[in-house]
Amino acid sequence: MKSIETFDCVVIGGGPAGCSAATILAGHGHRVLVLERERFPRYHVGESLIPFTYPSLDRLGLVPLMRQSGFVKKYSVQFVAPSGRASQPFYFYERYDRETIAQTWQVLRSEFDQILMNRARDAGADVREEHKVVELLRENGKYVGVVATDRDGERHEFRAPVTIDASGRDAVVATRNAWRRGDPKLNKVAVWTYYEGSQRDSGVDEGQTTVAFIPDKGWFWHIPQHNDRVSVGVVADGKYLTRDGLKDPKAIFEREIPSNKWIQDRLSTGRCTGEYWLTAEYTFRSEYCADDGLVLVGDAYGFLDPVFSSGLMLALKSGVAGADAVHQALKAGDCSAARFQDYAGMMHRSIENMRKLVYAFYDPKVSFRSVTDRFPEMNAALTDCLSGDMEKDYSALHRALSEWTDVPDDLPFGHPRPEPAGVAVAVDSKG
Ligand SMILES: Cc1cc2nc3c(=O)[nH]c(=O)nc-3n(C[C@H](O)[C@H](O)[C@H](O)COP(=O)(O)OP(=O)(O)OC[C@H]3O[C@@H](n4cnc5c(N)ncnc54)[C@H](O)[C@@H]3O)c2cc1C
Repeated sequence: MKSIETFDCVVIGGGPAGCSAATILAGHGHRVLVLERERFPRYHVGESLIPFTYPSLDRLGLVPLMRQSGFVKKYSVQFVAPSGRASQPFYFYERYDRETIAQTWQVLRSEFDQILMNRARDAGADVREEHKVVELLRENGKYVGVVATDRDGERHEFRAPVTIDASGRDAVVATRNAWRRGDPKLNKVAVWTYYEGSQRDSGVDEGQTTVAFIPDKGWFWHIPQHNDRVSVGVVADGKYLTRDGLKDPKAIFEREIPSNKWIQDRLSTGRCTGEYWLTAEYTFRSEYCADDGLVLVGDAYGFLDPVFSSGLMLALKSGVAGADAVHQALKAGDCSAARFQDYAGMMHRSIENMRKLVYAFYDPKVSFRSVTDRFPEMNAALTDCLSGDMEKDYSALHRALSEWTDVPDDLPFGHPRPEPAGVAVAVDSKG
């Protein structure tokens, strides 16, 4: 081992969840270390924010920076039928304060994540890039830190009474501990790329997210970004996208373009600027959200199908709330799993509320328009949930949806691990 260092908290991963957590903990006066595998700025998908990301951005002190940034402002969402017919856009300011919640952003993740990382450093966190966590350390049933390799392959030990796993969909802890639980009903495939010079709206609609349907309940996302760039991707069942044995992401993407006239028209004047990306089997949750000396935040805790762009809102919210819970635990000198019960409950409720709407979206029997036509009083609840206001009781909305579809029960897992593990071993990594 090249070195051994001690902190109050070690964070695995310097993405949005990890840097949010580090900012809050450093602000509370703790010595916090963030270990990030990559050198930033780095590419990442997931570029559209939703209105209720605002409270976390505000808590992190990032609103002025977001306002000064070149990110395209997002005021609305629209849905487009395969024929090309667009719904009336939903403008967030019809329900929320125009100066705060109602205006959000389409970001470039290389820039957005760098802003978050800079913020964590400014707050006092020690952020080390090109440090890959390869081992979780446990002693007497408690997590006590990690081993990471630096860019030269040297191994370093970092010890702390609490470790936060914010490693995104790598989900270091859930994967190493076999806690990762997939969601067979949301086992979709996404293929995406970037265009320049394609047709875009102007004025208040410039930053509008479009969800454009293809037959069989698949959909395109169309996210206008700055510098005339558009992020565009298609999501559907893998069997549908790869029918007739197609495997090449470019060929899959190009075959689907004519299945939505609006997408076809928009892209017709532009040119693809680069790579095609593909990901599969992406919805999952961790069996546990905390253990003794351990908390999971962001995608490392759970990743939900991105149809409603909830990922970053949940990453920032869990980073902030997880860090507050860790602060209380450190203050009490007790970082046992039970301390994270409230945090876990809040995150579980939030993801479950969104998951129920995602299920409804993929059920061909459901159209949100039919739901609000029949139950106009559900309009506000539907809007709030889709905008990311996750703290409310949406049981009346779920009852209304159950007229059309089977609303899934809450998943029974995702809570803190009930019993101390009791095994004193280091969890090795092949990684
Ligand atoms: C196809 C697709 C479309 C999406 N669209 C949207 C969208 O429009 N809007 C939205 O809000 N969300 C979207 N998301 C989700 C969004 O990308 C994630 O929810 C978000 O990035 C989660 O942030 P995070 O900090 O938890 O994880 P990440 O952003 O993945 O950050 C994790 C970090 O941990 C680092 N790391 C991993 N392993 C290690 C290790 N062993 N050691 C050290 N560091 C490590 C990684 O390098 C990474 O920087 C989309 C996701 C997908 C797959």
